Amino acid sequence: MAGPEHSCGVVGITADFDVASALHTALMIIQHRGQESAGISVFNGSSIETVKGNGLVNVALDKDDLKDLNGHVGVGHVRYSTTGSKSIANAQPLTVTTNFGPVAVAHNGDITNFSELKEKYMKEGWAFLTDSDSELVIKLLGKYMNQYNDPVKAIRGIMGELDGSYSLTILIQDRLFAIRDPYGFRPLCLGRIDGGYIAVSESAAIDALRGEIVRDIEPGEICEITKDTFKIYPAPGQHPRAFCMFEWVYFARPDSILDGREVYDVRRKIGEILARECPADVDLVMPVPDSGRAHAIGYSCATGIPYEEGFMKNRFADRTFIMPDQKQREFAVSMKMNPIKSTVNGKRIMIVDDSIVRGTTLKKLVAMLRKAGAKEVHVRIGSPPIIAPCYYGVDMKSRDQFIASTHSVDEIREIIGADSLGYISIEGLIEAIGFKENDLCLACVNGKYPTHIKGEVHRFQSTLKQDFQ
Ligand code: AMP
Repeated sequence: MAGPEHSCGVVGITADFDVASALHTALMIIQHRGQESAGISVFNGSSIETVKGNGLVNVALDKDDLKDLNGHVGVGHVRYSTTGSKSIANAQPLTVTTNFGPVAVAHNGDITNFSELKEKYMKEGWAFLTDSDSELVIKLLGKYMNQYNDPVKAIRGIMGELDGSYSLTILIQDRLFAIRDPYGFRPLCLGRIDGGYIAVSESAAIDALRGEIVRDIEPGEICEITKDTFKIYPAPGQHPRAFCMFEWVYFARPDSILDGREVYDVRRKIGEILARECPADVDLVMPVPDSGRAHAIGYSCATGIPYEEGFMKNRFADRTFIMPDQKQREFAVSMKMNPIKSTVNGKRIMIVDDSIVRGTTLKKLVAMLRKAGAKEVHVRIGSPPIIAPCYYGVDMKSRDQFIASTHSVDEIREIIGADSLGYISIEGLIEAIGFKENDLCLACVNGKYPTHIKGEVHRFQSTLKQDFQ
């Protein structure tokens, strides 16, 4: 399995002006995809210059340092924060010098056969400096460039070796490529900006640069981008797709359009479908800010039950999800949220969030609402119960983390202290996103994985045994 997780954000820009500042803007817009580190690499005519650091984009990338990054083509990266992998050595873009020029790679995703490939190439004498699968990508690129002396053939070569999820922006000397794995787990889209082109994880960054969305990079495509045009090298064959449902449910920005589906619109539909599937007699609907907001609006619009903001969120509080122990996580939720008493007191409340993982957030929030005088607290969730780990880049790695893998819905209701608890069904979620079931990765909610993962069920086969025969 992969080393550190890469639920990150990537960008590449080529234009008729110095791109460092535009890359910085794009990274600010996709900051939610990664807060641990940020980096920018620019080709300056002879070499690739890189600035990267730990922390949020504004902290990691000093504006003065960016002034020295002169060049019309570059790539950028924000890295997701997970416990235990905070080394700056893992910050991206990764750069190397090769006999065909300098190379920089920014990667979003998890390479699921990383360990096997690393072992195979270590036996051949390769040395690795980091525990990052992106280093493997860059080394493989070097190997195939030597073999083919042609970037597109070389990228196809690495795509033939890698399993799992990867959306990549790659700079090979002055040539910029955007690549999406054959399943399309993680998003990647192409935009036209004034004087050039951009490839980026989420379309909201194209808006911020006052550009236009051109198209999504389709699963398995290699897209070469110049300041004037772009060229698509299609996937060699037909392949089932596996767009990650969690991008729409939680991860991406509401104003981004992923594979033709606006995130906000999908979340509203989730709320509407939840209203149909799990009705309740309540006085008001309120979101867990900010993650449940659009879902709650959908619920309220579909039912006519008034929508209210019932929690004040401290936007400067630390992230609770990644804290190492339960006590810290619970304390952090109270630091982060506080109920608005006049909204809550004496009311029958429906509270809506996108997902339950361990149950920490909702247990705490339900208790706070009761303390603030709520008469009843009903909970609705915009994803089906999360029961299985993600191997493709979302920080949900082990089964024992998921309350729903060991408890029934009614037991979870009891644990979080709610009067009722309702999750959207898998069918309802598929309807809200608007793709066919087989075009989505639903592994975290149905345990069926789109690609072969040792010890897990492959989604096109019904039993594990079959998979290993
Ligand atoms: P929990 O408190 O463990 O049940 O986690 C659920 C809360 O964390 C919800 O409010 C989600 O919006 C948020 N969440 C879900 N998945 C993730 C993730 N992979 N990383 C960070 N936050 C998440």
